[in-house]
Amino acid sequence: MLRTLMMATARAALLSLAIPLSPVWGQNSTIITSTSLGPSGPSGGAGAVSEMNSRSGLLIDHLSARKLETWKSIEELVFAEDKEKQPLHPTLRSMWEWIETSGHKVYVEFMDPKRSSTSTAGVFSIDKVDPRGESHSSVIRLNLFNIDHAAMPEIAGEKGGFIPFSQLNGEERYAEVLGHEMAHAIYILSNPERTSKIFDNVETTNQILLLSNVDRSRGQRPSDMDMRKRITKRDEILLQLEAVAESMEKQVWKELVKSKAIRRKMAGDAIRSAFDGKR
Ligand SMILES: [Zn+2]
Repeated sequence: MLRTLMMATARAALLSLAIPLSPVWGQNSTIITSTSLGPSGPSGGAGAVSEMNSRSGLLIDHLSARKLETWKSIEELVFAEDKEKQPLHPTLRSMWEWIETSGHKVYVEFMDPKRSSTSTAGVFSIDKVDPRGESHSSVIRLNLFNIDHAAMPEIAGEKGGFIPFSQLNGEERYAEVLGHEMAHAIYILSNPERTSKIFDNVETTNQILLLSNVDRSRGQRPSDMDMRKRITKRDEILLQLEAVAESMEKQVWKELVKSKAIRRKMAGDAIRSAFDGKR
């Protein structure tokens, strides 16, 4: 339970903007075929452990058949093209493809709304750091219920005209949050030193905080000064991580909004030609 590096943030924090892609964008790692990792989710999924460990990319073993249908419709949206076969959502698509070829495991799960905070739209967390930096194991969790029911601010405020979820519905909103969480995944997983630094600073600090009462009774508690420094450092890192993800989310949102009319027209054309074919 403590082995999770939480990037979860309140929806309010999850939905803003800023900063460009990391310079290591596009850098791939080698796929390794054996680690000591098991599936991280509750259901375990299908397939032998050795087979599961040899795979990487976005892994959907933990999704039920019904949830898989939702996932497929998100996937279709990510890879949607216009009539000239040009990607309608190049940012989402490139993030998806980066993860697929990264060598890292990114399990996808949909959260049970009854068992998660009402303010969480999505979470990215690292379960296991591969010391070689080649195949970390992580999870993206989406809270579809919260995303569906998210209240939108009336005005964009100082966020450069970006109103999260504005003009978007259903899979489009899920895709926006997926984009935010994939941005976390890529930024954190694409650089081994960064992964360790973030894991050490955030996870270790959280663990120390949680265990501090136990340690205090044993006289092993770090000094208040050390702890303050740690927390400050952790919070700086979390702010930086959010800035990266929010920037990418804004880009994803723009592309989804822009493609709406094209998608609607293509769907209309498809229906018309289906009817024409039946005449
Ligand atoms: Zn975030």
